[in-house]
Parts: sequence; structure tokens; C-alpha cells
Amino acid sequence: MTTSSPILPGSTIGILGGGQLGRMMSIAAKRMGYRVIILDPIPDSPAAQVSDGQIVALYDDIDAARRLAAASRVVTIEFENIPAATLEAIEPLVPVRPSSRVVRVCQHRIAEKTFLRDHGSPVTAFRAVKTQSDLQSSIKAIGCPSILKTATGGYDGKGQLRLDSPTQAAEAWQWLQGREAILEAFVNLDKEISVIVARSPQGQVVCYPPSENTHAHHILDTAVMPAVIPDTLLTQARDIATRIAVALDIVGLLTVEMFVAKDGRLLINELAPRPHNSGHQTFDGAITSQFEQAVRAVCGLPLGSADLYHPTAIANLLGNLWSPHEPNWQRVLAMPDIKLHLYGKSEARPGRKMGHLTASATTPQEALQKVIQARVKLST
Ligand code: AMP
Repeated sequence: MTTSSPILPGSTIGILGGGQLGRMMSIAAKRMGYRVIILDPIPDSPAAQVSDGQIVALYDDIDAARRLAAASRVVTIEFENIPAATLEAIEPLVPVRPSSRVVRVCQHRIAEKTFLRDHGSPVTAFRAVKTQSDLQSSIKAIGCPSILKTATGGYDGKGQLRLDSPTQAAEAWQWLQGREAILEAFVNLDKEISVIVARSPQGQVVCYPPSENTHAHHILDTAVMPAVIPDTLLTQARDIATRIAVALDIVGLLTVEMFVAKDGRLLINELAPRPHNSGHQTFDGAITSQFEQAVRAVCGLPLGSADLYHPTAIANLLGNLWSPHEPNWQRVLAMPDIKLHLYGKSEARPGRKMGHLTASATTPQEALQKVIQARVKLST
């Protein structure tokens, strides 16, 4: 269903997915006077804890999704692995933003990279791999080192295999177990950055400053806005992200993850049609947080300013920090300019994102240093 009229405060927003992104979107929506309903298979999900209700159901439960649609004026998502078929089933009933068409592109690496290449966006060389002979010809064409990624279901570095020699072809084929995949040329990375763009149903586009991101064990570790890269690259990164949002005709948020190659090129790694971990700085550091912006975009409101008050950094808190003992909260709470965010997850498993810390400063480097030092204090 489409609507051009704004969905105003007091209305109900349905969110598919009840993790931390849904939670922070819900906090932003509640602050603006919306009601929020979450659909998530796990009761008392992080988002449901700060919402008006939760439908406990699997994401492929079409009846449950219809109940969410019936209760909502607009439905959005907090992660892109919601089955596109679920979104498609409720699109006749309620505006779904972003649409099933956009989500379908973003949840399949072959569709995503092909879309980007066909629209003239810079991507590393890649080949689709569906058969064993595809794999062999792709390795020949792309060369090594290269990275084999499953077409669906991979995140945080899962579903990836680095190939250093063509002799790994047989092992790689076995690893795939019949799954579709993409073989990508390895990029000599200088930095990883991401750009979050918001687009409204009226076509208004607002872009955040690029964030510079570091990873540990394939999971985002720190992120700082703005990225410390030359001004020409900052502008180029924003232009690339804005063009993709327009080409996709997305309504909502789009995060464009990019590599800054050692040779100075910007290459797109992947797209996420939702708020992103590398944008949590905006919660405390920007005029409009990415979560409020998502609410504004999907509700068809005018978009807010994406300007930062100050350079701002975050450091993720993974479950590992809970071992051998609970983090030392008092040390960090005693630091008056550090913000603590916890997601309400009861079980702290290694690698699980449990929360983050935020710090602002006069430069991005100082903000990053401050937030990393604060995180160290948690383990003392
Ligand atoms: P992804 O799951 O595609 O986000 O990849 C996870 C991480 O693997 C990225 O953040 C990069 O650090 C690394 N990576 C992915 N693709 C490439 C590539 N083509 N070349 C070099 N590093 C890559």
C-alpha cells in the first residue's frame, strides 16, 4: 500500500525485528509520541522492552505479519534478512518501508553487486558462483587472493572463505555445500567506512558524514564520525551513497559500507537498508539520530539535520567483556562525558553485541581514543 500523506505522531509503527536496532528506533519513535509494535520470535526482545507490544512469531509466519500490518500505519524492518516474501505478503495491507523489492536486492550478494555494477557504482571485480565450473572459471578470471562469500545469510564475516591459491578450489566447493556464492577480488584495504543516507517517500535525501570503522574478529569494534579521510573522499563517499539511495528508490535508511583501497579508490562492499551499528554515534552526537531519521523517513515526515554537534565515536561492548566478571560499570559511569548504552540482553555470549559506549571530542581521533580508554576501564 502506498500513501503520500505523513504518518503523524500518535500512529503505530510496526517493526520486524526486535534487536538493538529496533530498540533504538523504538526509543526515538516513543520520544516523538508514536506507538510501536515489534514482531520477533524471542519474547521480551530488546526492542519489545521499550515498545507498546510484541507479536512473538517467526519472520516467515505470514499470519503474524498480517496481524502486525493490521495494527500498524507503516511497517519497517531492523535487519535485512526478514524474508522478502513476508514483506510482499503485507504490502497490499500497509506501507512497507523499505519495500520488499529493495530488501530482496540487499539480501542477496549477487543481486546487490549486480545492481551496483549496472548503476555505475564502484565495486571490486566479482563473479557469481552457482556451479563447480563457475567456481573454477571465476578463480581463473578474478585470481587470488580472492574472497568467496555465500550469496545469502552472511554477516559479521560469517559465510566467507579467503582463497590464496587456485588449488583451494575443491575445498572451497565443498565448503559451499551447494550454496550460491560470489567470488570477489581481494581489496588491499586502507580503511573501512560507511555512509548512512535517509530518503523520504517525497524523495528528500539527507546524508550523514561518513563513519570510519574498525573490526575485530569480523565484528564492528569502533566507529567514528566523521571518518579521517581527505575531503575529496568524504564528498565522493556521500555522493556515491546518495546516488545509490536514489537509484534503489528506497524509502527509509540505506547504509553503504565502503572500502578505501590503498590506491585511493572507494569501492562498495555491501548495502544495509536500515540503521547501522556504525551510526550509533548519531544517537548522542548528531542533531538527528539515525533512529529518529529512520522514523521520519518511513513516516513521510521532513528529514532532520544530519549534522554532528562534535566528532563522536563509539566502542562496541561484546559479550566477551562479561567474562570473567560483569563489566565494572562504576568506573565508566564515573566518567561524566561517556555515554553508556546497553541493549537489555540477559545472556552475554562471546561475540554478542550487548551495548556500546559513546564519546565526543574536538577531533575524531580524540573521540576515538577517549571511548577506547573508557572501554578498557570496564575490564578493571
Ligand atoms: P562482509 O561480511 O562482506 O561485510 O565482510 C566482512 C569483512 O571482511 C569486511 O569488513 C572486510 O574487512 C573484509 N572483506 C570483505 N570483502 C573483502 C574484499 N573483497 N577484500 C578485502 N577484504 C574484504
